[in-house]
Amino acid sequence: MSKMRAVQVTSPGGPLELVERAIPDPGAGQIRIKVQACGVCHSDSVTKDGQWPGIQYPRVPGHEVVGIVDALGAGVAGWTEGQRAGVGWNGGYCGYCESCRRGEFFACQTATNVTGVTSDGGYADYIVSRAEAVAHVPEGLSPVEAAPLMCAGLTTYNALRNSGARPGQVVAVLGLGGLGHLAVQYAAKMGFKTVAIARGQDKGALAGSLGASTYIDSKAQDPAAALQKLGGAKVVLATVTAGDAMAATVGGLGVNGTFVIVGAAMSMQVSPLQLLLKNQSVKGWYSGTSIDSEDTLSFSVQTGVRSMNEAMPLEKAEEAYQRMMSGAARFRVVLTM
Ligand SMILES: [Zn+2]
Ligand SMILES: [Zn+2]
Repeated sequence: MSKMRAVQVTSPGGPLELVERAIPDPGAGQIRIKVQACGVCHSDSVTKDGQWPGIQYPRVPGHEVVGIVDALGAGVAGWTEGQRAGVGWNGGYCGYCESCRRGEFFACQTATNVTGVTSDGGYADYIVSRAEAVAHVPEGLSPVEAAPLMCAGLTTYNALRNSGARPGQVVAVLGLGGLGHLAVQYAAKMGFKTVAIARGQDKGALAGSLGASTYIDSKAQDPAAALQKLGGAKVVLATVTAGDAMAATVGGLGVNGTFVIVGAAMSMQVSPLQLLLKNQSVKGWYSGTSIDSEDTLSFSVQTGVRSMNEAMPLEKAEEAYQRMMSGAARFRVVLTM
């Protein structure tokens, strides 16, 4: 039996261990991908720290997977070996439950498949994925360029394009990290009047180079008041994970504004009076499914949006993960096979 390298977690909080495993065969409806690159994401901590109810170990993390279709399981249509392919957080859906029949595949009620959480992910030479979870990867993006767009890119792009904002309106991106530095680029390329909000004057130049027309240093000024000076934001996209930073910005929404949350904070405070007087809303945004990933990749090719990445070999997965979790990475870490 042929072997492959994989990096796995064997218990909650345990280290990422490089092991040799049998190359998995694709079952019915599954595609095997020879992995070229896999991004390291904050949400990999779900696997590393055992935060997913009922997670089974050992488990290979990784849900920003890009590679080449290597083998097709029985009944897979629309794919051929040798095509470029990517897999993100959504690991597939049933197609027959009520949510799926209403087109809300992300909320599938019967098959909560999460890549690298409920099945083995991309920290390996090969991955097997359900076919409906696999996205086409266009020419024009290298594997390292494409990988972070499968989660960080998808989440921010899809949240912004579904936010209700129109070209020319004020859209603020809260946070300039792995998600934020992509969100600012997407917002600018979508034609929004893009405002970046982060802590420290030193980030202003970066924000400008990513396409922000205004930078708000939330250490030096009240971000809500600064947004109101610009007429109020149609949308604030919150990419940070700190509830107090979100609460300090929600007051920057304009009339009919929407505060869109993609950062997993535990809680945030908001004034109901403010919301009702200005007809505002606070909502979350799930990342997306494989067709949304394809749209993200195409838009990124078309407009030149790219993640800033640090590439590291698969063997250094533990180091790569720690570097990303510590906040030292600028801005995404990608494992290469
Ligand atoms: Zn992710
Ligand atoms: Zn379903």
